[in-house]
Amino acid sequence: MRPEGNGNGGEPADGRYACVALDYEDIKHLYRTLNLRPQDARGIAYGIVADRFLEILDRHRVKATLFVIGEDLLDEGNRQGLKRFLAAGHEVANHTMTHPFGMRRLSHDEKVREIVDAQKILEDVTSQPVIGYKAPAHDIDGDVIDILEEQGFLYDASVYPSFFNPVLNVCYRVAGGGRPLGLGEWQCSFAPTRPYRLGSPFWRRGTRGMVEFPISQLPGIRFPFYATVMFVAGVQSFRLALSCMRRSRFVTYVFHSFDLYGENDRGFSPALRSYPAMRRTLTERLEMVDQAIGALARQFHTVTYRQAVSDPAILNAIF
Ligand SMILES: [Zn+2]
Repeated sequence: MRPEGNGNGGEPADGRYACVALDYEDIKHLYRTLNLRPQDARGIAYGIVADRFLEILDRHRVKATLFVIGEDLLDEGNRQGLKRFLAAGHEVANHTMTHPFGMRRLSHDEKVREIVDAQKILEDVTSQPVIGYKAPAHDIDGDVIDILEEQGFLYDASVYPSFFNPVLNVCYRVAGGGRPLGLGEWQCSFAPTRPYRLGSPFWRRGTRGMVEFPISQLPGIRFPFYATVMFVAGVQSFRLALSCMRRSRFVTYVFHSFDLYGENDRGFSPALRSYPAMRRTLTERLEMVDQAIGALARQFHTVTYRQAVSDPAILNAIF
């Protein structure tokens, strides 16, 4: 399978791959995560916000992987919105049924239900096997990895191998009104930063069938490389971070659906400005997302996680 071209004239260097991930959630999950009184923003994430993402991805000929919550697809309008991403060649992966807080604290049976219930509904909408998973708030543990393996998943994209996890967990707690969110078992901070075949325990390299695609970190200091940082620190911070990744053969870059939820869209509460990305205007955020995806497409072959895990040549290049 050939990776997609980048549509920007020059070709990116050989053997360098990037996965653009969209944690694609109905806006109600943003209100829930920030512990704010929910407003009626039904249909927005899979409607006008989807238009914005689809246009930017198409402009740079980038195929993304969407991590989707099962219960969001109980709404017919959301199903139709997701089908537009599928028609454009983007991948859909499993982000649990309800996006629970503190996934690791659920019982084994509750974890199975979260994953299997979402899987049924996602495969019903996509009409193909869904092979990837990301835990809500990256709250991954060995129990969930075993469940994924039993269910035939081919990859997980939850591991967050950052030395800053304790700090980020405090930020999560403050933003979420004191509820624990996650980032997984503490040993994840020391997991490989490059993709790897899972071992036992899962935060080590091994020979298990499933592949782990950890969230990219800046080399050495293991500071997370993802879009929320750019929305806080500006597009220059993204350029600087990207230049630090110049020796990396593989990067992930994660956006959230609500990164392009505009201040004039239905249901936008001023209280959302407690979330850093929302302090910028939609116009600013559109420009930043466009620049980031454009830069990734110029420097890397952009592929979906499905393409990466299915192509031995890509795996060979990035392991
Ligand atoms: Zn999420």
